[in-house]
Amino acid sequence: MEKLLDIKNLKTSFFTHVGEVKAVRGVSFHLDKGEALGIVGESGSGKSITMMSVMRLLADNGKIIDGEIMFDGRDLAKVSEQDMQKIRGNEIGMIFQDPMTSLNPVLTIGDQLTEHLLKHKNISKQDAMKKAVEMLKLVGIPSPEKRISQYPHEFSGGMRQRVMIAMALITEPKLLIADEPTTALDVTIQAQILELMKDLKDKINTSIILITHDLGVVADVCNRINVMYGGLVVETGKTSEIFYNPRHPYTWGLLRSIPNPKAKERLKPIDGQPPDLLKPPAGCPFAPRCEYAMKVCMTHMPPLFEVGDNHRAACWLNHKDAPKVEAPVGRRH
Ligand code: SF4
Ligand code: MG
Repeated sequence: MEKLLDIKNLKTSFFTHVGEVKAVRGVSFHLDKGEALGIVGESGSGKSITMMSVMRLLADNGKIIDGEIMFDGRDLAKVSEQDMQKIRGNEIGMIFQDPMTSLNPVLTIGDQLTEHLLKHKNISKQDAMKKAVEMLKLVGIPSPEKRISQYPHEFSGGMRQRVMIAMALITEPKLLIADEPTTALDVTIQAQILELMKDLKDKINTSIILITHDLGVVADVCNRINVMYGGLVVETGKTSEIFYNPRHPYTWGLLRSIPNPKAKERLKPIDGQPPDLLKPPAGCPFAPRCEYAMKVCMTHMPPLFEVGDNHRAACWLNHKDAPKVEAPVGRRH
């Protein structure tokens, strides 16, 4: 498999009046061409900041401190802002949580859809509009020829998110980054949008990174999952491994908190707060919330233990001398 994205030891910090917030503390992972990777964690885990670092869209007080972001042969941590502008929206497409704030209310859908095409590709306005109609059709918007001259407020929330997906994909980017793309939508529409992304992954040759706080969202779309906590990747593996053989207590907590609309069960959120990244703990960042925490967890950061084929987990329970603990979730088949 050819790697499209290869991130090594990425560290990103924000410099605030109270000090340096270490939001991403040494993250390494890769994405193969044609693959869909899920990045899952609570808010503040560093998942969005990792991808904002890749896009180089950090707030003014944010900075990549260290590491390498190899994308198709270039290190995005080092390319000029000018080159980055050519990559953004052209080679890397993005979808965010709230399509209403990402769409411009005073421009027609057609004008917004064709903007990146006209900017980055040598194409006539007429051909760009034709392509826009095709894209709207592809993402399941009825009567696209008519819809193209309408404004964002004339679309429902689900339809607007479809437009955002069309907009992100119209330049045929090598990578699509979707950050909580379904969080603002109701459950039925959420399922439709995820179905659409799965479908598009097969139709268009785009690799996907899907960022979400909900493990349930990535289950059907992604081949692999990174679980993030406290600015670190704490577990990584194939989707089936994460669901059926999870090896980190934080992943166990995330699995227990997946909403199940059919069972009408109450959610079991993970008790406690994420670590303060102004003063990151010396040991395991999950230790204060972990019911399995041992002495070593307080003082020593667990390495990413190899626990299976391409499956790693940063938890001392995976050390050969650790007490045997049965995962309370997973292995459900
Ligand atoms: Fe819990 Fe220790 Fe594992 Fe951290 S390393 S998740 S504190 S058992
Ligand atoms: Mg976020």
